[in-house]
Amino acid sequence: MHPLPTYDDVLAAATRIAPQAHRTPVLRSRLLDERTGAELFFKCENLQRAGAFKFRGAYNALARLSAGQRRAGVVAYSSGNHAQAVALAARLLEIPATIVMPHDAPAAKRAATEGYGGRIVSYDRYTEDREEIGRDLADRHGLTLIPPYDHPDVIAGQGTVAKELLEETGGLDSLFVPLGGGGLLSGTALTVGALAPGCALFGVEPEAGDDARRSLREGRIVHIDAPRTIADGAQTQHLGELTFAILHRAAPTVLTATDVELADAMRAFASVMKLVVEPTGCLGFAAVPHVPERLRGRRVGVILSGGNIDLARYAALLNS
Ligand SMILES: *Cc1c(COP(=O)(O)O)cnc(C)c1O
Repeated sequence: MHPLPTYDDVLAAATRIAPQAHRTPVLRSRLLDERTGAELFFKCENLQRAGAFKFRGAYNALARLSAGQRRAGVVAYSSGNHAQAVALAARLLEIPATIVMPHDAPAAKRAATEGYGGRIVSYDRYTEDREEIGRDLADRHGLTLIPPYDHPDVIAGQGTVAKELLEETGGLDSLFVPLGGGGLLSGTALTVGALAPGCALFGVEPEAGDDARRSLREGRIVHIDAPRTIADGAQTQHLGELTFAILHRAAPTVLTATDVELADAMRAFASVMKLVVEPTGCLGFAAVPHVPERLRGRRVGVILSGGNIDLARYAALLNS
């Protein structure tokens, strides 16, 4: 196992990604404040380059590769946003990228990945093991595998989201973060531990796949079948070794959100804030009402992690 990243690695990542990553806005909504009773601060990574926070971790990891590794190229496996992020970061750094992607990944995500110049290899997410396919490609062609969450440079890059948020808002009472494989939440935990140790950290995963909640409760990495949920960016089957180790130590509270709650949150963002947020990006906000005692008059941060969604699917979910 790699050594665990620290907040110093988050600081180094912030410097490394600054020339290319957007410093995304922190938006407020009087209406959503009234509805929840909290002072809400939304960190809008749906407005990040390539449409999600994943660009931060991907760019940070690729920028650290040696000249030889860059020449040989990189491979990534992803249900979408990590793929786009790696493809874009690779293009900016002039590194060839191969992306292993489920054949049923949203068309917009496939098209965007190809648009950035990534070469796509498809697989069946319910019967094949993407990690095995990625590792095999890496072995056969000398590519460097860039995992979507279980990598110290990826985790450190994702930790820059909360750094920017806390720099802008000052103290927060709590922070709600979408949770799949735990890259975003563990990076956030490093930052919160350093900048806002009193801030209560909440990770939110889809109810259909509550492996992280069970893992932290049982003190071991629990594996599950690929969960069926509209949150396609959080259909992970287990935490990583690094993300589990960081989260085990940081001990965030893990909550879950249903698909109905995610669609409700999507509608709220669309109608109230004029923001397109993909279902996975709504996880944090969808669980805010689950902890009413943490809300009244409190300062609450919410990470909107991404905004990539096919327009047809978006329209269908808004009308669901
Ligand atoms: C990947 C992703 C997540 C989950 O992030 P992890 O680091 O895997 O926990 C959440 N939201 C969006 C939009 C994503 O793309």
